[in-house]
Amino acid sequence: MHILIVGAGLSGAVTGRALAEAGHRVTILDSRAHAGGNCHTERCPETGVMVHVYGPHIFHTDDAQVWDYVNRFARFRPYRNRVKTTARGAVYSLPVNLHTINQFFGRTFRPDEARAFIEETQADRTITDPQSFEEQALRFVGRDLYEAFFKGYTEKQWGCSPTELPASILKRLPLRFNYDDNYFAHRFQGMPEDGYTAMITGILDHPGIDLHLDTAYTPGHASRADHLFWSGPLDGYFGARLGRLGYRTLDFERFTASGDWQGCAVMNYGDPDVPWTRITEHKHFAPWESHEGTVCYREYSRACGDEDIPYYPIRLVREKALLAEYETLAATEEGVTFLGRLGTYRYLDMDVTIREALDTSAAFLAGSAKGA
Ligand SMILES: Cc1cc2nc3c(=O)[nH]c(=O)nc-3n(C[C@H](O)[C@H](O)[C@H](O)COP(=O)(O)OP(=O)(O)OC[C@H]3O[C@@H](n4cnc5c(N)ncnc54)[C@H](O)[C@@H]3O)c2cc1C
Repeated sequence: MHILIVGAGLSGAVTGRALAEAGHRVTILDSRAHAGGNCHTERCPETGVMVHVYGPHIFHTDDAQVWDYVNRFARFRPYRNRVKTTARGAVYSLPVNLHTINQFFGRTFRPDEARAFIEETQADRTITDPQSFEEQALRFVGRDLYEAFFKGYTEKQWGCSPTELPASILKRLPLRFNYDDNYFAHRFQGMPEDGYTAMITGILDHPGIDLHLDTAYTPGHASRADHLFWSGPLDGYFGARLGRLGYRTLDFERFTASGDWQGCAVMNYGDPDVPWTRITEHKHFAPWESHEGTVCYREYSRACGDEDIPYYPIRLVREKALLAEYETLAATEEGVTFLGRLGTYRYLDMDVTIREALDTSAAFLAGSAKGA
């Protein structure tokens, strides 16, 4: 078959590779000038630093098959994400752990003492069935930690009060009673030595794949294909005819300096009067490299306009209702498969994106083998 794929991010590349390896002819279009989608990395010509152009990406997974898959196309270097936060004039360790608790309350608790202190003196035990993000935080961490580490950051990130967000956003107990400051808990974690775009270009490098960059999809493209895989925005496929699905977008204020600007890769800013959510210093994502210069991104979050890059799907009540309408429309569409973070309107980590693309292509190949 001749397969058309819209999007040369991880969803499009992994799907395209699987179908090309199965003998199909694959054409991939992307409106951007580069492959890699939002995972795109490129070296800064001035400093040589590998820059995560659309925001920092750390690979982490428990899925051994996905880990083997990415290691086929890139050499991974060990990398642990250790995030700090500046709040109320001090710097703390994240996720909130025993170090953070001891520093914040000026104590020297051991794990059990800290657990008892939080449960008995901080947590709001009158909340028995937390409904909102705020109630969940008050129930498990109490007002002091909530206001210092969760409230301001969440308001800036989502542009609304944590009372309007579902409790499910915050994990059941968002505290660690040990000194583990590894942001992710997954078994496999790392960073591709030559960046994500080199890895994704490797996935796309197959004689059965024809890649067209700088090429926005038009319906004329699909008329020449037997099947279309769409990893662009779900509402965009339908010309937003039912309305726009809401996203948050990010603005990155890029600046360069010499030496080490902040001493770590990610510094969050939880105070509500600081307008940015975090500053990332990209050379720290490649600790095996050394560069005299440095590249930082000051990151701001805001509502996504029509011309902005959609980053985080909002998925509150209004958006979920609209999503259900688009899903009904999509289900009636013949010869099209919607996939990826934009095509399914979900936040997906890279490992989940790869897993879903592998499973979707396997299902497609099994179905087409049966003539379905
Ligand atoms: C700020 C941020 C940080 C993240 N950090 C991490 C992290 O640390 N770890 C992690 O595992 N995951 C992270 N992610 C998630 C990661 O970015 C996604 O898993 C991944 O990008 C999903 O790939 P995709 O191919 O589905 O979508 P995308 O990467 O968005 O690719 C879709 C592609 O489709 C193209 N396209 C859209 N419409 C059209 C059209 N009409 N015509 C032609 N082309 C079109 C776009 O140009 C784009 O290149 C992060 C996401 C964000 C927003």
